[in-house]
Amino acid sequence: MEIRIEKTTTPKEKPVDESKLGFGHVFTDHMFVMNYDAGQGWHDARIVPYGEISLSPASMCLHYGQEIFEGLKAYRTADGSVQLFRPDENFKRMNVSAERMVIPPIDEEFVLKALKQLVEMEKDWVPHSEGASLYIRPFIFAVDPYVGVKPADHYLFMIILSPSGAYYSTGLNPVKIYVEEKYVRAVRGGTGFAKTAANYAISLKGQDEAHNQDYEQVLWLDGVEQKYIEEVGSMNIFFVIDGEVITPELTGSVLPGITRKSAIEICRKKGFKVTERRITIEEVAKAYDEGKLDEVFGTGTAAVISPVGHLKWGSKIMEINNNQIGKISHMLYETLTGIQWGTLPDEFGWIVKV
Ligand SMILES: *Cc1c(COP(=O)(O)O)cnc(C)c1O
Repeated sequence: MEIRIEKTTTPKEKPVDESKLGFGHVFTDHMFVMNYDAGQGWHDARIVPYGEISLSPASMCLHYGQEIFEGLKAYRTADGSVQLFRPDENFKRMNVSAERMVIPPIDEEFVLKALKQLVEMEKDWVPHSEGASLYIRPFIFAVDPYVGVKPADHYLFMIILSPSGAYYSTGLNPVKIYVEEKYVRAVRGGTGFAKTAANYAISLKGQDEAHNQDYEQVLWLDGVEQKYIEEVGSMNIFFVIDGEVITPELTGSVLPGITRKSAIEICRKKGFKVTERRITIEEVAKAYDEGKLDEVFGTGTAAVISPVGHLKWGSKIMEINNNQIGKISHMLYETLTGIQWGTLPDEFGWIVKV
């Protein structure tokens, strides 16, 4: 498929002070768009000026939430080149999400080519300051003008780009989270493993209550027994107990994070014992009481590694590693960001140059 290009005639000013970028507020000059129509498949791939789109108020995505998305970043290296971290994994996962949400699959190779072309066009938007990057958001949503429940026949696939500031502007500060016992995020047979808007919509209430209590995030338990640990909002979770790295296995209600997968591969390569299995919150609390809970950390594209310093379960408060970042968390952060920004050799073959 050809990609048609329409360049903006009114390019925007690039942000001068990258320390004020924040996350997800600023967008670049262009975006990628492609249509799907039943019978015709994906077609009309184009890179056009970034801007508003017009939709029917009856668009199915607005009523029944048929939508999926991805999130990854482009990094600027010391020599000025721009690179992506495992983008093939994002488009592979997007097709897994698509299958669950009855959205037609995309051609993974083609959309990666389109992404590279878009980032190449927008490469001056990739931030220069340490820790800052260009956040990439591919997404697909149903646009049939029809207020009835069924899988749609018409979709838009889009990629938008957002220069974003360093996640940790003041160093890797451990976060405060609590175990959510009232609400659940995903259930057996549900959509937990898919990157879909619905999973976020239902998590907002718990998130909001956490913020009101001065906690950053919640730790979700399984939706059936509320016993097994699943993940944290937009991050997967790891525990280091007595030297062993443990993370909940992918049972269908946990999002299969690419940072999670990479952290497991790095830990194994460095000789740590890594186990993917079901783990209860009781087990974690018991390990804490016995002085064996060495580290807790989250993994995700935005934060890379997010150490957990304070974990609350009911009335029990666990201060982990004296609220300091642990050894393995630190090693993973240094290794992952080193590969992503090109200061460490890419031994795993994860980098794709733009
Ligand atoms: C995207 C996401 C993650 C992290 O996945 P990465 O590929 O590592 O960024 C974790 N949990 C949820 C619910 C997510 O949507």
